[in-house]
Parts: sequence; C-alpha cells; structure tokens
Amino acid sequence: KKRSLPKPKWMKETIPGGAKYAAIKSKLRELKLHTVCEEARCPNLGECWSGGETGTATATIMILGDTCTRGCRFCNVKTSRTPPPPDPNEPSNVAEAIASWGLDYIVITSVDRDDLPDQGSGHFTETVQKLKAFKPKILIEALVPDFRGDPSCVEKVAKSGLDVFAHNIETVEELQNMVRDHRANFEQSIDVLKMAKEYAPSGTLTKTSIMLGCGETPEQVISTMEKVRAAGVDVMTFGQYMRPSKRHMPVSEYVTPEAFEKYRSLGVEMGFRYVASGPMVRSSYKAGEFYIKSMIE
Ligand code: SF4
Ligand code: SF4
Repeated sequence: KKRSLPKPKWMKETIPGGAKYAAIKSKLRELKLHTVCEEARCPNLGECWSGGETGTATATIMILGDTCTRGCRFCNVKTSRTPPPPDPNEPSNVAEAIASWGLDYIVITSVDRDDLPDQGSGHFTETVQKLKAFKPKILIEALVPDFRGDPSCVEKVAKSGLDVFAHNIETVEELQNMVRDHRANFEQSIDVLKMAKEYAPSGTLTKTSIMLGCGETPEQVISTMEKVRAAGVDVMTFGQYMRPSKRHMPVSEYVTPEAFEKYRSLGVEMGFRYVASGPMVRSSYKAGEFYIKSMIE
C-alpha cells in the first residue's frame, strides 16, 4: 500500500476570529445562505471574513446546485450526468441574501453544467445583475466554468456588470489531462480568459488559479505563468493541492513557502496586478483585500 506524504509543519490550520467575522457569521444563520468557506471548512475563513487591513470582507458561494456534470481528479463535488434543474428563483434569492449580509466582496462560483443549453451562463448573469441592483457597491467576482468555450456564454457573463471574471486553469499546461475532466483543456480555458478580457468593459479584471504539488516542475509553472500573462490575465493565484480523500489523486509534493514566495514575486515582475501565492491559498483567498490594495497602488 502506498502511504500518503506526511503534512509539513507549514500546513497548519488557523483559528477563525475577529469582530467582523462574528457579525457576518451570525447574519449568515438568519439568511440561510450556504458558503463554500464553511462547507469546505476553509482554514482561511477568519482572514477572509474579517476583511484584513482594508476591511474588505470576502466570502464564496456556490450557485446552480451541488452536483457537477464533470469529474476532476482533485475535486470533492458530487457528480451526475443529469443533475436536477437549476432553481429559477435562485438568482433573486441569493442576490437578496448576499446584499443584506454585510460583505464587501463576493465570489460566486458553480459546478459545471454541461447539461444546460447555456452551460449555466444565464443563471450567473442574472445573479450578478440582481446583486448589483440590490447593492451597487459590492464587488463581484464570478468564478466560472469553461462553458465549453462558447463565446456567447463568456460574453454574457463578461458584460453582466461583474468586477472580476475568474476561470481556473487548475494546473500547468502539461498536467491538464491528468488533473482535470477530459472535457477541459488548457487552450479552451486560455481562450475563455482571452474572450472575457475582450468582451468585458475596461477596468474589469480577469483572474486564474493553479494548484501546486500535482507533479509539475518549476519550469512548467513558469511557462504556464507566461502563457497566462500573454492572454491578458490580470491576477493569478497559487495554492497547495490537498487530497480530499483516498479516492482522489495523491499529493506529489508539499511545495515550500519559499517556493510559493518565488512564484509570487516572479508573477509581480511579469506584470500581474496582484498574485496570491502560499500553501493555504485558495483562488478566493482574501480576494477583496487584494483587489482593493491593487487598486490603490
Ligand atoms: Fe472562503 Fe475562499 Fe476565503 Fe476560503 S479562501 S474562506 S473559500 S473566500
Ligand atoms: Fe469539481 Fe469544477 Fe471539476 Fe466539477 S468541473 S468536478 S466542480 S473542479
């Protein structure tokens, strides 16, 4: 039997805290909103919800149900070819709840919905529009699927009024097939990010993320960063892959904090507006705080 790699000391979890965190949490119970932050027991919850130095509280919610039509080797989400249809009232309900929740920056993400004619892009668009109508000042990041590369889906979402269009390439170019569902690939994801930049009003940021520790080499990470930057992507994040269960792909390596820091400074040199990089970083990690800081600089 193959043993899993032992967790290094820097992978320790932090305890949530802070006054803003407590307020946001109690309101959440009233609104019956489900966040990815809580459901995934994300170790960054205290930092994200308290808003850090800029007081910009960030949380992530998932729309379009809990069942994905794809099956990536790192992901713990349920899978089915025929998930239940989306709730037509979800965009209004979610928008109203988020607007009254006291957050400054919301990441709206979803499972992939290859079963829907518009890949779920209409649902995303409506949620963003309704939320901006309820609370114009909230910053919205939509973290979207590849929509099978359909330009009309990308265009709709890019023009919905969001502040950040995010789509994750998940891993380096060379490991796409090993890590992601076979319907996803590097070219398609890069195209989605390029199209989003073209369609979105100027000032809208594009963003992508990769997990490290899947077996990639530093050279592959750097060449992937270069291609992402060449696609006009503004923001990139790097985190450690963690295996959700024994049924998932194993961790190849725990990348050191020093190596993460090297990718961060290299990314800044390459011209990314900001780079979040560290063992515990998720693509939404302190997204609001980093967004505000990058706008001030
Ligand atoms: Fe939530 Fe993302 Fe922050 Fe984790 S990193 S607490 S999922 S916003
Ligand atoms: Fe998970 Fe997204 Fe892959 Fe679906 S497409 S299995 S939600 S990573």
